[in-house]
Amino acid sequence: MSEIDKFFEWGNCSHKGCAESSLPLSQPPACWVHIASIDDWYESYLDAARRATDDPFQLAPLLVTGSSLHNRALVKSGAAQELHDEFEKRKVAGSGRRFLFADIVFFICTAAASGVIGGLSLEAIKRLIARIVADSNPQEVHRLVDEILPEAKFEELRNNRKEEIIVETEQVIEQRLKRTYRLTVRKSKTDQ
Ligand SMILES: [Zn+2]
Repeated sequence: MSEIDKFFEWGNCSHKGCAESSLPLSQPPACWVHIASIDDWYESYLDAARRATDDPFQLAPLLVTGSSLHNRALVKSGAAQELHDEFEKRKVAGSGRRFLFADIVFFICTAAASGVIGGLSLEAIKRLIARIVADSNPQEVHRLVDEILPEAKFEELRNNRKEEIIVETEQVIEQRLKRTYRLTVRKSKTDQ
């Protein structure tokens, strides 16, 4: 197998009883749901891709694949998946065709879900996201947050997912999401 083929190789998830495929290069092999940290996985995938080739025509598809796996993995389970699936369903219904998601949508679904599961108020979640995305288009982001996490949806998630809520401080959530934001939207490594 060539160096490049490894990036497209899916094995079996090593989590007991899981029948999903493992993400390429994951160690131990793990699927989207059982990967310990999807941001860690993505950073090491990017490092490995840059080590494997410096030919831009070989590197480009690796980077596109990594980014799309990372985006999808972010919304592959839990409250983030719920927010993402509902948003996608509304978009498809509205346009009559499959909607192509921008990186920022994956980030907002992840951030909104982290906020709810971390026990933050809706206002705190909005403030937090606004701070993190300050270098994007704040109005567009604000509109998307309202669309992805309207107040009724926030209440519903908080009531239906009570068991999952593990209260975290705003700072802890913010640190984690800053890194996810840079990896998802800015495609750059974090400085931590
Ligand atoms: Zn698994």
